[in-house]
Amino acid sequence: MDKPLDPNTLRDSLTELPPLGMDIFDLVEDFRHYYTYTLGRDRHCRSPHYAYQALVLTLRDRLMERWKSTRYAYEAEGCRQAFYLSLEFLMGRALGNAMLNLDLDENTALAMQCLGQDLETLSANEHDAGLGNGGLGRLAACFLDSCATLQLPVMGYGIRYEYGMFRQNIVNGHQSEEPDHWLRDGNPWELARPEYTMRIHFGGRTEFYRSATGVLRARWVDTNDVLAIPYDIPVPGYHNGTVNTLRLWKAAATDEFDLGEFNSGLYPESVSDKNAAENITMVLYPNDSSENGKDLRLRQQYFLASASLQDVLQRWTGQKGGDFTDFAAKNCFQLNDTHPSCAVPELMRLLMDVHGLGWDEAWNITSQTMAYTNHTLLPEALERWPVSLFKRLLPRLLDIIYEINGRFLVEVSRRWPGDHERQRRMSLIEEGPQPQVRMAYLAIVGSFSVNGVAELHSRLLQQGLFSDFYELWPEKFNNKTNGVTPRRWLAWCNPELAQLITETLGGNAWVTDLQLLSRLALSADDPAFCARWRQVKQDNKARLASLVQTRCGVEFNIEALFDVQVKRIHEYKRQLLNILHVIHLYDRLKRGDDDNWTPRCVLIGGKAAPGYFLAKRIIKLINNVAEVVNNDPAVGDRLKVAFIPNYGVSLMEIIAPGTDLSEQISTAGKEASGTGNMKFMMNGALTIGTLDGANIEIREEVGDENFFLFGLTAEEVEALRGHYDPHAIIEADEDLARVMRLLESGHFNQFEPEIFDPLTRAIRNPHDPWLVAADFRGYLEAQKLVDIAYQDQENWVRMSILNAACSGKFSTDRTMQDYNRDIWKLEPTPPVPMV
Ligand SMILES: *Cc1c(COP(=O)(O)O)cnc(C)c1O
Repeated sequence: MDKPLDPNTLRDSLTELPPLGMDIFDLVEDFRHYYTYTLGRDRHCRSPHYAYQALVLTLRDRLMERWKSTRYAYEAEGCRQAFYLSLEFLMGRALGNAMLNLDLDENTALAMQCLGQDLETLSANEHDAGLGNGGLGRLAACFLDSCATLQLPVMGYGIRYEYGMFRQNIVNGHQSEEPDHWLRDGNPWELARPEYTMRIHFGGRTEFYRSATGVLRARWVDTNDVLAIPYDIPVPGYHNGTVNTLRLWKAAATDEFDLGEFNSGLYPESVSDKNAAENITMVLYPNDSSENGKDLRLRQQYFLASASLQDVLQRWTGQKGGDFTDFAAKNCFQLNDTHPSCAVPELMRLLMDVHGLGWDEAWNITSQTMAYTNHTLLPEALERWPVSLFKRLLPRLLDIIYEINGRFLVEVSRRWPGDHERQRRMSLIEEGPQPQVRMAYLAIVGSFSVNGVAELHSRLLQQGLFSDFYELWPEKFNNKTNGVTPRRWLAWCNPELAQLITETLGGNAWVTDLQLLSRLALSADDPAFCARWRQVKQDNKARLASLVQTRCGVEFNIEALFDVQVKRIHEYKRQLLNILHVIHLYDRLKRGDDDNWTPRCVLIGGKAAPGYFLAKRIIKLINNVAEVVNNDPAVGDRLKVAFIPNYGVSLMEIIAPGTDLSEQISTAGKEASGTGNMKFMMNGALTIGTLDGANIEIREEVGDENFFLFGLTAEEVEALRGHYDPHAIIEADEDLARVMRLLESGHFNQFEPEIFDPLTRAIRNPHDPWLVAADFRGYLEAQKLVDIAYQDQENWVRMSILNAACSGKFSTDRTMQDYNRDIWKLEPTPPVPMV
């Protein structure tokens, strides 16, 4: 109590505090403090919202001190850093992850018990941070978790969308969309950092001038500016004291927005200009694997690229002034798809126009710091922006893109003299009535590394889409097979299984070294272990069944096979093929072909892009089939079908542990990697799948005998184009013909005539790119093998164990080590010790 009030000591102690306690008592004390003082609640408060907030504040303090220690370590001279630029981060909930990674899961549970709070109820209060569409955004989130766990100095940069991925409701079997106002109740995980606000230009024109030393320079003038305000989210590593940063940008109007118009009396007009500025970060575009060419989307992309680069450059010049000699040695930008690829011309602009570098110096820096990850081969996903739009929105960037292209085409013509066709093909500008900027080519030309996300995908990129570039620069191209974080996708979401694994392996080292799971294979023949493994799966199935009961009103019996397909709804992912199989099973039951039947519960979930007609119609079909099947007394418990609305990260945390069979049935060559497949495998599901994306590597790891393979290969798919005859296939296949007759006779749409015609027409179309009919028979036969296999529970459990045991490769810890070894070359950097 008699501490000296010495100003010198106090000044130092402003930010230097002793570490916070991690015991139950410390948590209880802080919780009470926040609940009572900060939030001002008392014993009358019944809402779990405030208890949730008090708990977050308690944990956030523990993150805060580690965050600072991590920052101090990274600020040290000589620390090379990487920046992950992504328009999407599908983070899900943060509370459970923070408790797990801080090693406070047990103490928090006990502290809440002491205070009479139900931890599950509190946790359910958190909105998912749904700032992504699907795989690409979730991958970014898993990467951040692994980088923090590996203590790699990697920072994420993204957009703080006011509205994340829409909430999906099912109304009369149709998808309807509702805005996801996830920030409405505040977000206690974020920390606003207005002191690092950046200014972003749009519009205007380029002006050339002579500098004081007589050098010709360019500047971007008459612009409409928008401010970018950063909000930081802590990203804790697992049990290691590291807390990395995800920095999300929010758009705001500049202060001067109103001056001119305010004085002329147009106050409301000037306020609506303010809205236009703030619209940039209002909403996430809900298209997965397809671009939509909207002007606002390009604004978002440039906004992210410019704000993030300026932020990094500001820290650099703060330390080094105008000396950029070492910049490329100390910084690296990973572009998550082409979405942030404006970063290439923007870094050129900042280095030249703002920091005064010459072209060659700026180009050396840019092309040695950018690395590009491609995520899809689908032509509809390849971003192209009209030159006219660039000219209007980002005129200075267009100048720079033209200059990059001019110099690049000289290189092409040196390599292939006189090959004008090659120059036309490789140009960053696609000529035509409406010339377009090819963003993927811009990203390739501006990067030192180009990678695909699974072996097959990377090979197809080199042989197909990017073959000209591969010929020119083979050394740029590499593969980085995706993964998922074992913290969220096993240790956290499946605590019972995690406990069993930890006991069996004699410790929890597997959580950060997933290859250790391979030792589970030694126990795959131990009856006691198998019995426990099976019991855990049954418990998780019961938890999933109760979720399906509440959300869908469908009763799943946990003795049945749980057959699950959850992912974005897309033709290439072939939810249609799945539902054709369901209709076939129903048809068999109806005609009494039910010898040795294996009861099945089929669960399908996923969102369709609001403008994707066929995808939405597929959802309607699934719901109509479910309605007929579930209400037919002749079917009973032998077949159940449910569509779970509003699929997202938190639902997947319950779905993956309770799944027996994982459906990964895309047309070969179309799914770049898939990551849902990995989450299921890790949780002991078996896969039925095609030779596509990472399925190939999953099958390699687990062995052919523990994987249900079917379907055409990517090569066979290509070879079939041009002479595909679905009518002949349907005619020749009695089972498929019956399924089509059921569909076409209106059996599932008695009061909604013709609504499924677009789907049956798509299946019968000789130009069906997804070849649904071609793979039907193979799929059916593989499903029969599944049925037989499931009846031998002993062997099924063995296969389930082997799937989890062989999932070590698919940890993002491995993926991040691959990126770091080949691309980033960062030193693991532990935080400075807490005082
Ligand atoms: C993992 C995940 C995905 C990706 O699933 P795929 O089957 O690889 O398409 C999409 N959405 C969510 C919410 C996920 O957790």
